Formats: sequence, C-alpha cells, structure tokens
Amino acid sequence: MKPRIAIIGAGFGGIAAAIALRARGHDDITILEKGNDVGGVWRENTYPGAACDVPSPLYSYSFAPNPHWPHRFSRQPAILDYIRQVADHYDLRRHLRLGSEVTSATYDQAGGTWHIELDGGESLTADILIPAVGQLSRPAFANIPGRETFGGVSFHSAQWRHDVDLTGRRVAVIGTGASVVQFVPEVARQAGALTVFQRSAPYLLPRPDRRFSARHAAVFERLPVTELAERATWYAVIESLTVAWLYSAPLARTIRAISRRHMRRQAQAKPGLFEQVWPDYPIGCKRALFSNDYLPALTQPHVELVTDAITAITPAGVVTDDGREHRADVLIWGTGFTATEFLAPIDIRRSDGHRLADDWRGGAHAYYGMAVPGFPNLQIMYGPNTNTGGGSVIYFLEAQAQHVADYVDHVARTGVPHAVRPEVEAAVDDEVQTRLAGSVWTQCSSWYRQADGRIPTNWPGLSREYRRRAAFDPADYEPVPLTVA
Ligand SMILES: Cc1cc2nc3c(=O)[nH]c(=O)nc-3n(C[C@H](O)[C@H](O)[C@H](O)COP(=O)(O)OP(=O)(O)OC[C@H]3O[C@@H](n4cnc5c(N)ncnc54)[C@H](O)[C@@H]3O)c2cc1C
Repeated sequence: MKPRIAIIGAGFGGIAAAIALRARGHDDITILEKGNDVGGVWRENTYPGAACDVPSPLYSYSFAPNPHWPHRFSRQPAILDYIRQVADHYDLRRHLRLGSEVTSATYDQAGGTWHIELDGGESLTADILIPAVGQLSRPAFANIPGRETFGGVSFHSAQWRHDVDLTGRRVAVIGTGASVVQFVPEVARQAGALTVFQRSAPYLLPRPDRRFSARHAAVFERLPVTELAERATWYAVIESLTVAWLYSAPLARTIRAISRRHMRRQAQAKPGLFEQVWPDYPIGCKRALFSNDYLPALTQPHVELVTDAITAITPAGVVTDDGREHRADVLIWGTGFTATEFLAPIDIRRSDGHRLADDWRGGAHAYYGMAVPGFPNLQIMYGPNTNTGGGSVIYFLEAQAQHVADYVDHVARTGVPHAVRPEVEAAVDDEVQTRLAGSVWTQCSSWYRQADGRIPTNWPGLSREYRRRAAFDPADYEPVPLTVA
C-alpha cells in the first residue's frame, strides 16, 4: 500500500516528519499549514529580541548542521531562515498547502481513512494523519477583569504589533516568562516608561552568547567535526540541567548558586530589586532562562517592576491589589501559550462519534506523546509529555520523526491500519505520571501544569532515555480491522 499522508503544521516538527518520510520513499505527503510559510513559532514570534534559549548548534536538526549561524543563541530571523532553507533543500515546498487551517479530522472506521476538514470548507482524505501543531502555538491571556476595556493598544508577544511605535510611550508588560525576558531590554530602549508586572520570577543564568565570526563559520564548514563537537558539548551542558532538576540535588544547588550570584550582581544597581526577582520556588520548577540584559533593563530609572497582584485592567491601565492604577498607552501580554490544551481546537474524532477530547478530559496523554488507543493511523509530533524542562525540543522531534517513519513503513507493508495497544499506552502513561508526581515540576505553578496540577507537557527523564524508549516497536501496536459499514 502507498499511504496518503497528511501532516498538520510546518514548524520544526512537521518538517522533521516530512523529511523522515521522504527518506523512506513516501512521497504522497500533504503538509497543511494555517500560516503563510513554514517556521511554526519562529514565523509567529517576531518580538524584538526573540531568540532561542538553547545554543543553535544544538537547537537545529542533527542531519542539517548549519555552519553559518550568526550567533550561538541565534535570533528569530536566522532560525526562520534556517527552517526555510531546510524546507527548500529537502524539496518540501511541493507538499505544502499554506493558508490551510485544519478544523476537524474524522477517522472513518469502515474505510480506514482520515477525513480532514479545512476552515475554508474544503476537505481531503488521507490514510495517515500526523498533527504537528506544537505545544506553544496558541497565545494564552490572563483572565483579568476588564481585559477588553483597555483604551490603548494591546497585543500578545506572539502577535507583535510592529506598526505600533513605542518611542516615548508608557508601556505595561504582563508576565515575566521566556519571551518577556528577551523583549523587555529592547522595549526599555524605546519606551518613555515601562512597567513590568511579575507574578512569579524566573531563575536567570548567565547567557554565554557570542557572535560567530566569518572565520568561525569557515572552520565549521571545512571541518564539520568542529561543529559536531560544539553540538556535543552543548548537548552535555544543556542535558546537565535536566540531570540537576530531576536527579541531582547537589548539581541543582550549584546551578542555583550560580544563578543567585548572577542575579545579585545584575540587580545591584537598584536597591530592593534582587529581593523582588529572586524566585521563591525550587530551581528547575520553571524553565531557567539565560539572560544578561533583563535585570540591567529593570534597574533603569524609567523601568518599574511591580510584584503586587493585578486585580483589573481599566481603560487607562492596570490596577494592582494595593489600589494603585498604573497608567499605560500600550499593554503587552507576555502570558505565554495554552500549552496543556493539546491539538485544540482541532476536533479529532471517529466515525462512531467518539471524540479524542473526551478521552483527554482529565488531561492529554499518549504513548510517548505520539499514539492514542482507539485512533488508528494517528501519529502526533510534540504531543503530551514530550517537552523538555532543559534540553532541545528538536532532539525529541527527531526521535518522533523516526518513530513516525517506522510506523508508516509498518502500515504500508501490512496494508492494515494500526493503533497503539491500550494496555501499553496506559502503562507508559502511569509510569510517566508517577515519575512526574515526584518531580520538581510539582513545586510551583507553571505552563507545564494543568489547573488540577497534572503535568501533561514534560517528559520525566533525560532526552536520550526518551529517544531509546520511543523507538518504534511493532509489538506495541495492533491491527485495527475495518468495521462493516
Ligand atoms: C518564542 C519561543 C522560543 C522558543 N525557544 C526554544 C528553544 O530555545 N529551545 C527549545 O527547545 N524550544 C524552544 N521553543 C519551543 C518550540 O515550540 C519548539 O522548539 C519547536 O519550535 C516546536 O515545533 P513544532 O513544529 O512542534 O511546533 P510549532 O513551531 O508551534 O509549529 C506548529 C505549526 O502548526 C501550525 N498549526 C497549528 N494549528 C494548525 C491547524 N489547525 N491547521 C494548520 N496548521 C496549524 C502553526 O501555524 C505552526 O506553524 C520556543 C518556543 C517559543 C514560542
């Protein structure tokens, strides 16, 4: 059988899956992308200062090293260029259907096919469905009374309004997550007054960034082993964060001490600032961030960090629980993404009417994030419990892409739809949740957790354990006979 394959999303995940499938000779691939280009979060997040938090030689595909990274921590335009070049190099454009938002996908149990509907009313049929819609592609807003009443301009950091000139304006920023830490120094350069509202502070670590010179690029190009060595070194460094968070209290204490020294030094120009920004939860509970310019930005006289809780948004600004109204012309939501709502709002169901959302009412779960019992020929990229609290998500995506390619080979060979065995998926999920229940990630509230505390986002171990365990094993899947219509 020659399967027809539909991939939803053209970020790092969808592109990795398409490349792996093409390498196995599968060519009937359609990549449905709601945006106007490849790139995923790197197409959407154009805020000033946007950059990766994992060094580029590691935050890139192992099979597509790039000797020309401009920086060790490359900025968004360079990362977007890289994804575009990879898509061109692997001749993926011919598979792309841009401007195509998938609204629902129904598995036809009699035909063994997926019926996919797009927002424009069009539809298509595929044998295999691969959602690769990411965990961080839908902006989240804090539910604050009066949110709609703000009289100035407001926008989310993932939908940056480049047409809004911030020069001399009073800007309010809600949130202190990874994006905010990157854009606040840039906004502080322009704004007349900047107020940053913090609910919970991140741990900051020194950012060992550097510009890669032309000579550096030439060495990487002529001696690829040097770039491999840089990648391997950063793999070890970044992975040691996960070791610290999950396995080694002494290493976590050491990293915390490094963070404390760095933050104390960087905050010293403003009395009282360090006390405001030093976190009150164990290190590792939220992603620790690399930054050398966020705290110095907060020390500037026209920048204020407010730690009082926000009680309302008014037409004029933001009100905190001490009764103060902080007036603002521009309000920027740095409130992250709806990470725990997997695959939403796509309605995934079977022809008997059963919905995936019903199975996931208590929280999303899937076999190594990829396969769901009762939903044949569905393979999810960056699905539940495949995020990393320290490492590179791309490493996980590559492991998933191999699993997907092996799975598709298996289905093509047997000619029969397959679904993961329910008892296998349940056992993996039980183990993952048990390990997570004892992890540092339960010690604070973060985007890793649902409102009830469950953690549907993170993998509970090292990335190489994930890669080893998520390798395709046909014994974990079962053939699913077609029902008689
Ligand atoms: C600002 C930012 C910085 C980050 N930095 C790092 C980092 O340094 N290191 C790291 O490991 N990770 C980082 N991440 C996490 C990042 O999400 C992953 O590294 C990776 O880019 C995920 O790729 P993806 O393809 O799975 O998802 P995405 O990049 O989110 O791509 C999903 C794609 O699916 C499309 N899509 C969604 N729904 C539909 C639909 N219904 N129909 C059609 N198309 C749809 C979207 O338009 C998008 O193009 C960062 C995330 C953000 C937001």
